[in-house]
Amino acid sequence: MYKWSISWPYTFPLTRKGSQVNTSLAGWSPALQCTHFTGWLVSCSAVYTLHWLAGLLLCSVHTSLAGWSPALQCKHFTGWLVSCSAVNTLYWLAGLLLCSKHTLLAALCSEEMDKREVVLPALPRVAVCGGTHGNELSGVYLVRERLKSKRVVEEEEHVSVVTVMSNPRAVQHCRRYTEADLNRCFTRATLSCPVTDKTPYEIVRSQELNSLLGPKGSQEATDLVCDLHNTTANMGLCFIAYSDRDWISLHIYRYLQRKMANIPVRFLHFDVPLNEAYSLDSVGKHGFAIEIGPQAHGIIRSSILSAMQEGVQHMLDWVRLFNSGTQFEGGQVEVYTMVKNLDYPRDPETCGLTAAIHPELQDRDFCLLRPNDPLFQTFSGETLKYKGAEPLYPFFVNECAYYEKGIALSLARRRSVGIPSVRSEREGEQGTFKSGAEETEEDEMEETEEEGSAIETECEMQRCSL
Ligand SMILES: [Zn+2]
Repeated sequence: MYKWSISWPYTFPLTRKGSQVNTSLAGWSPALQCTHFTGWLVSCSAVYTLHWLAGLLLCSVHTSLAGWSPALQCKHFTGWLVSCSAVNTLYWLAGLLLCSKHTLLAALCSEEMDKREVVLPALPRVAVCGGTHGNELSGVYLVRERLKSKRVVEEEEHVSVVTVMSNPRAVQHCRRYTEADLNRCFTRATLSCPVTDKTPYEIVRSQELNSLLGPKGSQEATDLVCDLHNTTANMGLCFIAYSDRDWISLHIYRYLQRKMANIPVRFLHFDVPLNEAYSLDSVGKHGFAIEIGPQAHGIIRSSILSAMQEGVQHMLDWVRLFNSGTQFEGGQVEVYTMVKNLDYPRDPETCGLTAAIHPELQDRDFCLLRPNDPLFQTFSGETLKYKGAEPLYPFFVNECAYYEKGIALSLARRRSVGIPSVRSEREGEQGTFKSGAEETEEDEMEETEEEGSAIETECEMQRCSL
């Protein structure tokens, strides 16, 4: 079922203060459960029809059920007609507002958002983290190099940057983790669990990092946390974030996209509430992971390290410009929202794999996967096709570290998201927003969906080929 992103002014900002995550209201109304506007239209019409029928029945005290004409003459009928029309008008309006992904209203408001200016607090404290996974070596070496040439906390012009080796023990052993996956340890539950002698190292470390860079969700938290990762999948440079409405992250993303011509830059949105957000970057007021691949874990490829260094430099440049008062214009950006994971076909008894990613899908991350496209190839040579109803964009295709998690690939829906122009607060000025969290609560825009209808351009196909 489609998960609705709820956002003011179209819908209700139910998010807790400090959260930048959208809330699903899917259970509120049939309109909210539709995947597309047509679904809502059908459900709305059905409710409308039922309402009319109920009216006819209720009005039967004074009329014959057999005929419409007598019903229309009943004086009660007029009252019912008015109430019926009022209820259904409200229903339609609610549908239009809630179903704003598919309506003209959304498009108009999106255009409006492009023209708006949002004033946000400056970002005086930034953290650059690497080695959260100890065998993802671009981040490990980027952090080592920064620590060699700079102090842990570097006071640069307009910004103070702290450089963190997140999981030194895993780095030492060149392993993803030693006892638990550190990048799954930053949920509120894990961060607040009591520590004993038996607590896994990574959980202890997550609480240390939360003290250093957080506490998560607090005003004391670092303004921006960027966590560096590698993937064995052919994903280029990919932002991964929990909000598709954090203007800071989206503006930095667009800045990198414009500055970096040699690598595709994309933005992946995982729609997870802040409490359940599990990765290190969720500790900051704003945050994202930067995932770069393809690179096998435990090795270093110069081109990938260079792309990461360039990306981090552009990110810090953007923060300096933002903090010094530069205004960044609004516009549209492309965002991929995570929909689901798919596991490999497995033997029901042994759970061993029975197929691999199909050669036609391998290395084609972010190339649209349509129903009946090849998905897996069994070890006896048979092609297994994608059976989903909706065309979606694959990513983390055949990621080495996800075999243990039962993930062969993930699938995303692509949308265009409007972002307002932003600048930092001037001295003595009260910003229009206090934090990314309040941005989410106070001011939103919507996006138009492109999935399915999107036609892969030749350029895109080239981007996706190795
Ligand atoms: Zn990683």
